[in-house]
Amino acid sequence: MSLDITTFYNVINNELTSTETTRHGINPANRQPNPPVPVSTAKDLDNAVRAAHAAFKIWSRTSFEERRTALNAFADLIEENKDPLASLLTREQGKPIAQSQMETSMALQWARTLTTLDLPETVVEETDERKVVQRYVPLGVVGAIVPWNYPLLLAVGKIVPSIYTGNAVIVKPSPFTPYCDLKIAELGTRCFPPGLLQALSGGDDLGPMMTEHPSIDKISFTGSSVTGRRVMASCAKTLKRVTLELGGNDPAILCDDIDVDVVVPKVGVLSFLCTGQICMMIKRLYIHENIYDEFRDKLVEFVRAFKMGEGNEPDVFIGPIQNEMQFEKAKNIFETIQQDALKPVLGGIIPESDGYFVPPAIIDNPPEASRVVQEEPFAPILPLLKWSSEIDVIDRANDTDMGLGASVWSKDLERAQRIASQLEAGNVWVNSHFDVLPNIPYGGHKASGIGVEWGVDGLKSYCNSQRLWLKKNL
Ligand code: NAD
Repeated sequence: MSLDITTFYNVINNELTSTETTRHGINPANRQPNPPVPVSTAKDLDNAVRAAHAAFKIWSRTSFEERRTALNAFADLIEENKDPLASLLTREQGKPIAQSQMETSMALQWARTLTTLDLPETVVEETDERKVVQRYVPLGVVGAIVPWNYPLLLAVGKIVPSIYTGNAVIVKPSPFTPYCDLKIAELGTRCFPPGLLQALSGGDDLGPMMTEHPSIDKISFTGSSVTGRRVMASCAKTLKRVTLELGGNDPAILCDDIDVDVVVPKVGVLSFLCTGQICMMIKRLYIHENIYDEFRDKLVEFVRAFKMGEGNEPDVFIGPIQNEMQFEKAKNIFETIQQDALKPVLGGIIPESDGYFVPPAIIDNPPEASRVVQEEPFAPILPLLKWSSEIDVIDRANDTDMGLGASVWSKDLERAQRIASQLEAGNVWVNSHFDVLPNIPYGGHKASGIGVEWGVDGLKSYCNSQRLWLKKNL
């Protein structure tokens, strides 16, 4: 059955429902409204939570094998609908179709791989008298709060581990990008029992309603560090479990032994993918002084060649910024760049257009304290910074509240690893950046997050840890 991508509903207890009031997202490439979506109320949330608890009672007793079968059917449906989902993603998020196809493929890869992981019960101690078993039991109802930059992958990355570990899950998409998330929940009605996977679209009040709800057991949140703090404070009232995947301000350190022509295209893509709107894109590029000028000039030429435009135009690499708020923030950063007399060697001016388009900008060696270095711009704006001393560059790379990702680039693996091992971040790469896999845990240090998702450790975050003490002789 082909996927209808013209009408959008909440999914509550496997029924497609709408609400009295509706709203709509905006196609950021032309500012035209996308179709209407529900605006859920507290009553809709209560209904979903009730259905989720009923589903959880039964689902928590199923085996991993049964859950894997249902989730494989879900993955099959995502695969069958890859093309309409990718095209919908471009329409709601703005990213070029090739990047939407990449996100859809990643969502599928996550759906297929997470269920191949084992969460075994382990015998911690066994004697003639007793056996102690360590096991992981599901929590209950998970609230999955998703941002607008990777709505499909990040929703699937919460849905699959929730259900695989025996929980029920309610997905709340960002009001900016509700469409793909509602559709995948709709696909879920074909393979899961009622109440297991539900999705509610809403306004800005729906997230806080979920974090406050006394009968939701865990919040898995991906979004900004500012909101993450609010989520945690709110969850504390009901002692909900919480995983926070938050913002980043990733440094990449380039040593002077790299092959500039090989690294320029890699770093160029890893700094401007998704128009810079990825939590762990390269956001501060530290280039050794011996290669600084050559690298800067070649990077500028490489990035200048990126085609900007509506996501369905051929060969577009830079789509629009996703929403007006973020667009205004980018404009404001450019004003600061001007006021502080910083030196853009590319971009810096936003031309008039129908969409939220910001051409890529590269800023030449701004002061470390400038806003463009200190803040996560979440727009295609990259500061280049010069370094000469290893100790000094490590200190500068670490001198931030954020700790999501970081990378070191060098042909000398020993040197690269020495530097990498001193970087304060949850994900550290040598000679790459932004590598992620469903079987590898992922998460941030410092204000970039609490806990991890994915991998076996990620599965455990959807469970309570339990010790079963079995005394053999009564
Ligand atoms: P955001 O924090 O504004 O919103 C994220 C989600 O939280 C949305 O669904 C929003 O509706 C909801 N929300 C807003 N206020 C809430 C509240 N008080 N209580 C509960 N929910 C609330 O973030 P965004 O602008 O959608 O996303 C961009 C940010 O997300 C960036 O900082 C980026 O770095 C970060 N991000 C992090 C990761 C990661 O894995 N670490 C991945 C993607 C994005």
